Amino acid sequence: MRRFLLLYATQKGQAKAIAEDISERAAAHGFCAELHCISESDKYDLRTETAPLVVVVSTTGTGDPPDTARSFVRGLQDRTLPANRLAHLRYGLLGLGDSEYTYFCNGGKVIDRRLQELGAQHFYDTGHADDCVGLELVVEPWIEGLWASLTKHFASGGGGGEDTMPGDPPSDPMPGGLPAAPTAPQSTGAMTSLESQLQLLHIDKADSRTPGALPTQVQATLACSVPPLSIASLTVPASPPRFLQVHLQDPLDQEEKQVPVPGPEPVFRVPVSKAAQLTTADAVKATLLVELDISQTDFSYQPGDAFNVFCPNREAEVQELLQLLQLADRAEHRVILEVLPDTQKKGAVLPQHIPEGRSLRFLLTWCLDIRAPPKKAFLRALVDHTGQEAERRRLQELCSRQGAPDYNRLVRDAGMGLGDLLATFPSCQPPLSLLLEHLPKLQPRPYSCASSNLHLPGRLRFALSILEFPSPRGAADVRRGLCSGWLAHLLETQLRPLGDHRGNPSPEIFISPRATNSFHLPEDPSVPIIMVGPGTGLAPFIGFLEHREKLQEKLPGAQFGATWLFFGCRHKERDYLFRDELGRFQKLGVLTHLYVSFSRDPSTGEDAPARYVQDNLRRLGPQLARVLLQDNGRVYVCGDAKNMAKDVNEALADILSREAGLPSLEALRTLATLREEKRYLQDVWS
Ligand code: NAP
Repeated sequence: MRRFLLLYATQKGQAKAIAEDISERAAAHGFCAELHCISESDKYDLRTETAPLVVVVSTTGTGDPPDTARSFVRGLQDRTLPANRLAHLRYGLLGLGDSEYTYFCNGGKVIDRRLQELGAQHFYDTGHADDCVGLELVVEPWIEGLWASLTKHFASGGGGGEDTMPGDPPSDPMPGGLPAAPTAPQSTGAMTSLESQLQLLHIDKADSRTPGALPTQVQATLACSVPPLSIASLTVPASPPRFLQVHLQDPLDQEEKQVPVPGPEPVFRVPVSKAAQLTTADAVKATLLVELDISQTDFSYQPGDAFNVFCPNREAEVQELLQLLQLADRAEHRVILEVLPDTQKKGAVLPQHIPEGRSLRFLLTWCLDIRAPPKKAFLRALVDHTGQEAERRRLQELCSRQGAPDYNRLVRDAGMGLGDLLATFPSCQPPLSLLLEHLPKLQPRPYSCASSNLHLPGRLRFALSILEFPSPRGAADVRRGLCSGWLAHLLETQLRPLGDHRGNPSPEIFISPRATNSFHLPEDPSVPIIMVGPGTGLAPFIGFLEHREKLQEKLPGAQFGATWLFFGCRHKERDYLFRDELGRFQKLGVLTHLYVSFSRDPSTGEDAPARYVQDNLRRLGPQLARVLLQDNGRVYVCGDAKNMAKDVNEALADILSREAGLPSLEALRTLATLREEKRYLQDVWS
């Protein structure tokens, strides 16, 4: 087997799933993939790697590489590295992104560019897969082409290139600067044809009498396809190898309520000290302010930081899933997991997000994302546990190459969870072990701190809008966001106006810190700042302004730069968040310029009413350009990553172009430089 090193940098598991898929398919093409998360720098060493490298990298909403790639990228970006440091390395890179965001595939592009600058060369062209149109449109052909390129690479001498360095480990620091990886075994000749083993199944054309086939004018549903798919031959991936076995042991009498999922970072259990609704009852989206009492913990933060909230799955959804799996009577049993001794899965280990010895209900409540749309590999595995022929065919269609549009529309975009799927395919009865192999980790939800520790010692505030969206089961049925809906329910009886100090018994929640970022106030308070934050994107700026207020009290003689705030909401009288506080900051001179846009209020007869924050930005273009280009100011953007951040980016580029007379490309370059200098900072999520 010809070895290649396969690294993935994943944020939400997509890049990992693709890398695992590549790894599993490799053997059928005569290759052996050594698979690692890019953060596992003790397991590989690029400085001495002689085998080809394949990297799969995703991108966060801000256009940064995923958190797991931070230290790798930091290592690559060390400017003291010589330009030939990686001249021996041959690599292929697959970037994942979403073209609806500002910096498409930027995580991959950053790594690609730096590898090139350090002398590494492509053995295979870079692929950029776009989640907006369906990752598989690029991912599938990219993986198909990878085998030929690897074959060619090994045939032309394999391993490293002409510049391969001899064995001596270099002395400079590099990502994965650890023990040398084993030397790649050299190819010994032509590749044996393993195409016959290519793990693709060709499913025969469906019988036209199959219940799944419907006339063309009818739209496909999750349960039923329409021609041409319903009568097409299908290319379906092979079932992923099984690797877990599960024993359910004696029920736990009373499960100790403790930290939900031990993470690498500490988890704190904190009481809610206050909860208030910031919007009126007729607002389009309800927004809550939650205050946590962190005084009895070591949790610390600065304005601009974000933190994680751990939220459970809905009790009713867990119960339904238990019933669908016919495990309701064993919900309190302890789950004991083992790796199947004879598994075909390479490097199989117990999933880290499943703690030992907890009850089945606990795992389904706190550890596993049961709402996550099942990946195609999971659908494929479900086929083998589905009794009814029409249901099997439909599941095969949904995980097939031909059924990708149906999968995207009816599973992925519809937010179809495992429970929804099992309810639609009643003859599908997967074993628990299969679920534990495929259900991803229930991720904690990030929120920005909306307070200052100087202003409110021992307290931490955050703001959240309660998300509501149509349930995938039917238009009339509405689902609430997992965390926001849970918090809204938990705090229903706590909600009172902000100034009301009556105490109520406080529910407790679990939180953990998030890796520090650079979204902080400038060290030098005389630097002017521009803050752009529509909706709950305003949260961190409340923290900034509270902090600034305290600093101004402490340092009366000091010079403080101008503070510009661009806020946007839908209606002045319904969701103008922190209106009183902003007025107070203005009166104190802490907030020097405030511009608010109302996107759904009728025009009040002004010359050109601003609908969105970017309209006000454009209107104030000359002043803002001066702040950024002459006064060394900073611009902060917080809120929705998909539309708002992209439009604000465009507005800023237009302003720089117009005010500084720069061609558009040059204006974009200037913005990129501001980003690099950490003078254009984003805290954006979707
Ligand atoms: P939102 O839905 O983003 O809406 C706020 C305002 O922005 C509305 O007036 C909306 O107008 C307007 N808007 C819509 N499209 C826009 C665009 N392309 N450009 C500029 N403005 C636009 O508010 P939200 O519910 O508070 O959501 C905030 C977003 O910030 C979420 O994506 C959230 O994940 C993210 N976020 C939240 C936090 C936090 O701590 N809670 C922190 C960071 C980021 P119309 O609806 O009338 O079009």
